Order: sequence, then C-alpha cells, then structure tokens
Amino acid sequence: MSKSKSVVSQLLESFPDWRPQMYFKSSLTALSHAMEDRVLAGSDAPLVIASFQRERFYRQEAHRYKRIAGKSDQVYVLAAPEADFTNNSDIYETIAFEPTDSLAQEWHLVVIGKNYISCLVCEEKSATAPHTKASLAMDTSRRFEGIWTFDPHVSLKAADILLDKILDYRPELAPKIKKARQEYLSLTDFPTASSEASPQLGDSIHNNPDPFVQRLVSYLQAGQYKLLKAHKSLSIKQQKEQLLNSVTDSIRRSLDTEEILQVAVQKLGEGLGVCRCIVYRCHEKDSTAVINHEFTGPGIKSVKGKTWQLKHNPLFEEVVGLRETLTIDNTSQDSRLTKQSVNKEAGKYLQNLVKTCSISSWLLVPVLYQDHLLGMMELHHCEPQPIVWKPDDVALVDAIATQVGVALIQAESYANLEDLNEQLAALDRTRSNLVAITGHELRTPLSTIQVCLESLATEPDMPEELRQVMLNTALSDAERMRNLVQDFLTLSRLESGRVEWNLEPLSMNECIDLSLSHVRSRVNSQSLPAIANLVPPELPLVQADGEWLVEVLAKLLDNACKFTQENGQITIKVASNGSSQLEVTVSDTGRGIEPNSLETVFDRFYQEEGSLRRSAGGTGLGLAICRQIVNGWGGKIWAESEGKNQGSQFHFTIPVFDDISQNLEKTKKTKKTKTKRNNRISSK
Ligand code: ADP
Repeated sequence: MSKSKSVVSQLLESFPDWRPQMYFKSSLTALSHAMEDRVLAGSDAPLVIASFQRERFYRQEAHRYKRIAGKSDQVYVLAAPEADFTNNSDIYETIAFEPTDSLAQEWHLVVIGKNYISCLVCEEKSATAPHTKASLAMDTSRRFEGIWTFDPHVSLKAADILLDKILDYRPELAPKIKKARQEYLSLTDFPTASSEASPQLGDSIHNNPDPFVQRLVSYLQAGQYKLLKAHKSLSIKQQKEQLLNSVTDSIRRSLDTEEILQVAVQKLGEGLGVCRCIVYRCHEKDSTAVINHEFTGPGIKSVKGKTWQLKHNPLFEEVVGLRETLTIDNTSQDSRLTKQSVNKEAGKYLQNLVKTCSISSWLLVPVLYQDHLLGMMELHHCEPQPIVWKPDDVALVDAIATQVGVALIQAESYANLEDLNEQLAALDRTRSNLVAITGHELRTPLSTIQVCLESLATEPDMPEELRQVMLNTALSDAERMRNLVQDFLTLSRLESGRVEWNLEPLSMNECIDLSLSHVRSRVNSQSLPAIANLVPPELPLVQADGEWLVEVLAKLLDNACKFTQENGQITIKVASNGSSQLEVTVSDTGRGIEPNSLETVFDRFYQEEGSLRRSAGGTGLGLAICRQIVNGWGGKIWAESEGKNQGSQFHFTIPVFDDISQNLEKTKKTKKTKTKRNNRISSK
C-alpha cells in the first residue's frame, strides 16, 4: 500500500510532460461541483471516485453523492474518518483511509462515463501552519497543486491509481472493482495524452477544457489570488493590532514600572520577531543610561546591564531634538554613523557599539509623555544582511512607546499617591500623638490647681502659711498652663506656615541686648549666672524678622539660665562663618546634654527629666519653636555638648543682609522700628 506517494505524483510519473497547476480551495469546490452537476444532469451511469481529505468535507457533499448513487452503482467515496465514517457498502462504497495516508493531503474527483470523462487530482501545498479544525474548514485561501482535465488517458490513469488504493483498503471489493475496470478502464488504449478523443467515448468528450472554460477558470483564479493577497495583508494588520492590544492591556494593568518596561520589550520583541529589543529610562540631559530591560532572539548577544552613552551621542540627540523616531536601515552606510559626519569620540563610540552588538539595522523610538522624555525604546536587527524597517512596524513600535509612556506616568502617579497617603497617615499619627501629649501636659497643672483650690475651699481652718503655699502653687501652675498654651499656639502657627515673615536688615547687637533685657526682666537678676556678651560691635546687618530673632535668642538664653547654676557662666558669641551667614552661639557651663539627646532636645515636649519632676519649669516646646523660626529664614540650629555637667552650646545661623544700598536705607528704618519691637517683646 503506497501511503507516501501522492496520487498526483503517481499520475505525473505516468505523464511526465504534464505540469501541475495551482488551484485555490474555492476553485476546486467550484470545479468539483461542476463535475458532479454534469453527472447529475447527464444520462450516463459513470464510474465516480471522490476522495475527501477529511470526513467533515465529505459530510458537506453527502447529499450530492446520495443523488449521484441514484445514477450509477460504481460510486466510491474516500475520506479520513473523524466521527462515524467507516468502510461500508451502502448505496455507494465508502472507504475510510488512515489519517496518515497521503490521501489526507489530497483532493480527487474522477468521473468516467460514456459521454463525459474528466478528473480533478490535487494535493495541498504551502500549509504554513498546522491546521486546526477551524482553520481547515474556514480557510478558503488554501492552495492545491494538481491536474484538472478532460483528457481520457490522464483521467483513466487517475481512476486506475485510485481503484488500486481502494483495493488496498477494501480487498473484498475486488470483484466489483474488476467489473469497473472492465466496463470503464478498458478504454485505455489511447496512444498519447494529446491525442483526440476516442470515438468510442462519444463526440462530446474533449481532450482539454474548452478555451472559454479555461479562461473562466484563470479569471476565477486571478480573483482568488487578489483575495488571498488582501486577506494576507488584512491578517498581518490584524496580528499587529492584536499585538498592540495585548501589550497595551498588559502594561496598563501593571502599576510597577519595572514590570511595564519588561512586558513591553518582551511582547514587542516576540511579536515582531526582532533580534533585540531594549528599553531604558532616561531624561534629555542624562549622560548615560543603564540597559535593564531587554528581549533577545535566539543566539543574540545580551546587552543587559550595559551602560549606554547618551551625552554627545548623535543618534540620541537627534531623537530627543526632533522628538521623533529614528530609523537606520543599514548602519554600515548611514552618514550619522560614519567617521566623517560625527565628532571623533562619538563616532568611535557608536561604531564600537554597532560592532560589539552586531547592529546592522537600528530603530530608536522615544518614550514621551506630553513632550517630556521618559525613556527610549530601541530595536536592533543583528543579522549580517540589514533590513528595511517597514512603515507598519515602525508605526506599531511608535504606538507601543506611546502606551508605555502613559503606563509609566500612571504607575508613577500611583506611587506618588501612595507616598502621599503614607505621609498623610504619618501626619495623622503625629496629630493624634500631639493631642494626647498636649492633653497630658495641660491636665497635670490643671489637676494641681484643682486640688489646691478645692483644699482652700473645703478647709476654712487651714493655717495661713499653708493657704499661702496652696495659693502660690495654684498660681504658678496656672502660669505654666498659660505659657504652655502660648508656646503651643506659636508652634502651631509656625508649623502650619501661617506666619508672615517681615524680613528686614537688623543689627545683631541690638537684638541681643533686647533679648538679654527680656531674660533679666523675667528672672531675679541675682540668681542668674554671669552672662558675657562677647559680640564684636562691628558686625554686618542680618536679614531676618526681628521679633522672631529676639524670640530665638531669648529662649536659648532662658534655657542656658535654667540649666546653669548661679555660679556658672553664660557666653554669647557671633562670628561670620565665611559665607553669607553669621553664626550665633549661646554657651553655658551648666548641666550639659548627653550625646544621644543632642538632636532630640529639638523634639516637641522633650524634657530630660520629664515635666513632673522638673524643677526649672518650661514647656518642652522652646527648642522646637526655635528650630521652626531658624528654618524659616533658611538657617540651621544645632546643639553641642561634651556630655553631662560639661555645659552646652547652642548654635544657629542667620543670613547676612547683602545689598549695601538697601542696607543703608533699612538701617534708618530699623532705628525707627526699634522702639516698636521693644514694646512688642516686653508685652510677651
Ligand atoms: P523647656 O521648656 O523644657 O526648656 P526646651 O524645648 O527649651 O523646653 O528644651 C527642651 C529640653 O532640652 C530641656 O527640657 C532640657 O532637658 C534640654 N535643654 C535645653 N537647653 C539646655 C541647656 N542649655 N542645657 C542643658 N539642657 C538643655
């Protein structure tokens, strides 16, 4: 049983001068129907052999064969079984051949009658992809090659070959087939294929199809060919659209920029079957970019982890300058890459890149969002033979780059939103902590006041001395509460940015004098440690809000007095720190600060011994206020100390007023406002 050699091949072996022709599936259907109709319309009882590739194709025609069987008892139908098609002798013979038989790739119809003789013997060609059930049935552009003729020699030979095949599968039909051969194939003594029809076969038999019929078939074939071309270009367009949709879908679903970039290169590289596809993040002014996302075809060298030079790179500069895609079909002939046209260094770099990465054709597409450069997408063709980038492919890469831009912005906005959410949550936590701490700080003196006042009210016989103590305690705690509320409001105002800064040129000496007198007015001068003002008289004016500057100085001096014994020493110094700022230092010889608390002393409500055990008073908000004020004029504040009982130094910087002409003018103004400020400070 010959399963490997097709009927077409066997037929051509017998007729070596015949050349097979190409037929589309739709043409074969039309021709087969015409042949079948001829049988149905005639008065012959012909031998009919029909071979279908699959059972399902036979099913579509089964009704015709039932009718044909009414005309002749020599009807044979072959097909590869799929459901219930079997070897059977019913109104006609059915022959179920094995699906591996070459018949499964063929399409035959042979009609041998007294008045009409014709054969259609074809095999399928150019099956580009394995057929699925659906594609087999739907694809009208499938191509076959073979012979369609009225030539009796060829037709009889075709019938002969097919009857042999039938015998292979159904040997029990030998007597019937013998009868068919006697009745129909005995007319085989024609000398050549081109000879005239034998008179025994009747006048209406032609050796070749009528020229009109031939032309009609050619016309049909041409139409079919055009259709095929249109179908091909449509299906390419459809594939590209699908690729774009699938990339867009995948990258828009992700909010992770790394994933977006990887999915984009992977899908694009696979979809276009390009050698290498890379994408990297970059901005216009970047000098280099690292390649982190890449797709490479089989056997193509990876460039992942490599650094691309962007500065003085004429290709990058051109894409960025024009905000347009750059296509280079042949890198060895492109003027931008030849030595003469670019500067020596850049030329060397690009030529080296082309060589080491085997780039024969290059496509660079900017990833933009509202004209901002977010990155670059590159496609490399790496075979020795360069290619011409097709406009459709370039348009597709452009479209994908646009989608990547949108996806990146979307992901970044989400990340920003997450950051913002975290900041808000942190702020909310701080706010809650603040409310709790403030509540506690206020409740403590309030309880003391309440206890004192209740005792005074309920104990009329309390000794006068104790009454005085109770009253003093209540008064001092009321004062502490007042200070706390005052400081708290000041800090809130500063933190919320609701403070209006009245920046003016100020004399440092003047402000220090004001703050000193403020400190002395609050505390009994005799219990104060010695204060040495070592500020030189000739200092440049500073640029600050006088009211707040005095506030900072007074708070630092207050603290120095609070935490230094009476016999200690406080010193005020001001020095120019070499730039456009002055550095003010308030140092004391007091109890000092542990190194690990040098920063935390600036936190709200930080007090080393806790507010309850505190002897020196205070709210724990002073240094937090100072930091807000100093930051407000763009300065810095920090603490230094050698440790416990080693004294402390508080430093802050303040900008120097630098315009001489303004300096003079504002100095006059300072003098005028001096009295005003003095009044404001003493009223605090
Ligand atoms: P307070 O009203 O408690 O003084 P501050 O914010 O001004 O609040 O200071 C916070 C804490 O920093 C003080 O309670 C104290 O523990 C520490 N501190 C501030 N200044 C000095 C200083 N000159 N010497 C030692 N410790 C200091």
